[in-house]
Amino acid sequence: MSDERLPLHIDPLRLARAGVQLRGRMPLAEMGRFAPLLATPDGEVEVELDFGIDAERRTFMKMRLRAQVNLVCQRCLGQVQHGIEVERLLGVVTSEAQAERLPAIYEPLFFAEEPLFLREVVEDELILSLPIVPRHKEGECAPAATGAGTDNKAGSARENPFAVLAGLKH
Ligand SMILES: [Zn+2]
Repeated sequence: MSDERLPLHIDPLRLARAGVQLRGRMPLAEMGRFAPLLATPDGEVEVELDFGIDAERRTFMKMRLRAQVNLVCQRCLGQVQHGIEVERLLGVVTSEAQAERLPAIYEPLFFAEEPLFLREVVEDELILSLPIVPRHKEGECAPAATGAGTDNKAGSARENPFAVLAGLKH
């Protein structure tokens, strides 16, 4: 599955001059900041990168990310599947001043002397894409965790799974 490995570091200016497209996958388990936010760090993120230079001579990197991840539902504490689909148009800049001049269609991607650590860029976007409070859709929570009258009270729903577990021990 991980046959297409992406480079660890990239130089977006050089890749843009060459009009390079990169396609590959990254294992989620290798992401030190993103993996802990998941119920299970299984799977990979599909990464598509297109580098280029626009009509105004601005260097850009178009990034598309796709992944299926398991999050912890904050209502029943069960696993909830979440599909990530991110598309970003990043304008490569070397200074704050350049970033301020970027047209609104671009998000700034700062790049100085050192090559970019690609996984960090991908990881940042994945983290930003997650819902603040992951939850199953209404009515899709694990049935054991929802007692009568707790459906719309986050506080009591949070305690419920433990009550259920305690009940199972006897
Ligand atoms: Zn749930």
